[in-house]
Amino acid sequence: MKPPRETRRILDKLERQYPGADTELHYTTPFELLVATILSAQSTDARVNMVTPALFKRYPDARALAKATPAELEPQILSTGFFRAKAKSLLGMAQALVTNHRGDVPSDIDALVELPGVGRKTANVVLGHALGVPGLPVDRHVLRVSNRIGVAESDDPRVVEQQLCDAMPKARWTRTSDTLILHGRRICRPKPLCDQCAVRDDCDYFRLVIARARDHKAPKRPRDKKRVRATRR
Ligand code: SF4
Repeated sequence: MKPPRETRRILDKLERQYPGADTELHYTTPFELLVATILSAQSTDARVNMVTPALFKRYPDARALAKATPAELEPQILSTGFFRAKAKSLLGMAQALVTNHRGDVPSDIDALVELPGVGRKTANVVLGHALGVPGLPVDRHVLRVSNRIGVAESDDPRVVEQQLCDAMPKARWTRTSDTLILHGRRICRPKPLCDQCAVRDDCDYFRLVIARARDHKAPKRPRDKKRVRATRR
C-alpha cells in the first residue's frame, strides 16, 4: 500500500480531474439527506431524485414520517426497489429520531449507526454533506478504485475507511470519498477507461494488470534480417 504522502499526491491529481465533486448532492436538511441515502441503496440517484420531492412534501421531517404506516409509505418509494425493507428502515429511523433525538438527526457517528437502516456509509454521507462533520463514506466505487490505485488494501469497507482517513487530513475526508466515487462512476469503472485516467502512472492495477496484458497482446516485431544473418555466421 502506498505511503500517506503518496496517497495525498494522487488525490490532489484526481481532485483536479473532478473539480466539482462535492456539489453533486442537493438535499437541504440532514433529515432529507438521510432519507435519500437510505433510498439510494440498490438504486440510482436519478431514481431517488424522482421520488423525493413528493415524499418530502408529505413528510417534511422525522415527526411527520414517524406517523406514517407501511401501507402509506411503500407505494411512494416502490420504484426505488426493495421498497418493503426500505419503508421499514425509514419508519424505524424516523421513530428513533423522535424518541431518542427530539426529531433531529444526531451529529455523531455512533448515534447515527444505531438508527434502523443506517450503516457507516450512510452515516458518513450525512455527517460530511449535511452536518459539516468530516466523514469518509466507503461505497463499492471507493472500495474498487482505492484498491486498484493502491491507496488502500482491503475488501473490508471499514478497513479502507480507516486507511484513507489515516492518510488524508480530516478536512479532506468527504471530498476524498466524493472524488473516488466520481472516478469510479466515470472512468475507473468495473471495466476501466485507463487511457482517460489522470493517475494512470501512479496506479498499481494499471502497472501490474493492464500494462502487462497490453504487452502480452502487442504484435511481435519481425526479426531484424541483418541480425539473423550475423547470428548464423
Ligand atoms: S489507471 Fe485504470 S485502473 Fe488505475 S485508477 Fe485509472 S482507470 Fe482505474
